[in-house]
Amino acid sequence: MNTLAPSPPALQVTERSEHEVLQRLQETVSASRLNCFLQCRLKFYFRYVRAIPKAKTPALHVGNSVHAALKAWHKARWLTKPLTLKQLHEEFVEAWVEPDDGKLLPVQWDGEEESAKLTGWRLCEVYLRESGIDLGEKPDAVEVPVEADLAKHGLPRLIGILDLVQKRRIIDYKTTSSTPNADKVAHTHEVQTSIYAVLYRFNTGHVEQGIELHHLVKLKNPKLVITTLPPMSDQQRTRLFRLMEAYLEGLDGRDFIPSPGMACASCEYFNECRQWH
Ligand code: SF4
Repeated sequence: MNTLAPSPPALQVTERSEHEVLQRLQETVSASRLNCFLQCRLKFYFRYVRAIPKAKTPALHVGNSVHAALKAWHKARWLTKPLTLKQLHEEFVEAWVEPDDGKLLPVQWDGEEESAKLTGWRLCEVYLRESGIDLGEKPDAVEVPVEADLAKHGLPRLIGILDLVQKRRIIDYKTTSSTPNADKVAHTHEVQTSIYAVLYRFNTGHVEQGIELHHLVKLKNPKLVITTLPPMSDQQRTRLFRLMEAYLEGLDGRDFIPSPGMACASCEYFNECRQWH
């Protein structure tokens, strides 16, 4: 087991409660948990095992608010009562001021809140203008929580939320600060897209028509980049299952070794990490 430097009393987790947390984390896996574990096991430990509270970043707040507004827009389509632009703006403003779930500390805006809010709203406008989604076409599903029991593969339950399914295409929308690299986006998002495909197949009994990533890019002139991917291949499914096995083994062996690299520059646990030995 790795040794961790002593922490302030408020952050200490007892051996017993840590054991319980690890057990729970082994029962279900989501894309965000698995991606965090694969990116850096120590970061995973700080975030999910110790649950060390950190301030929500402005970028996350913008992303969440845009996501909530677009969710309302797609839900209204599903109900065949499309939102007007004014109603969408109201949804966005409401999401912006909505209190958080308490897992993160409040955003430190440093005087940038109004410009961040404007950026978020412009992204919503871009999405409506450029997504090419037919307003008259009812989605198959919007923001639906799903799970897949993978016990027969010796794996934990997969859990996730499908943003949007339209004509059997799984669509995930997200905000980003830089234009996604067309050659690499399928690889960098493979864990997430494979998880969605497994969840979709488990819950519908059908193979998805394909997967679309809708990246809203926060540039001076915001834009929407749509990446169209084919259905998950057998090889991708096998890779996902191998990664899930590594996750289980890592948690079993309490292997929370750090992975120093470029991602450390934006890691919220940098200070805690420097105490690790
Ligand atoms: S600073 Fe880097 S190595 Fe340390 S926990 Fe964060 S991502 Fe991992």
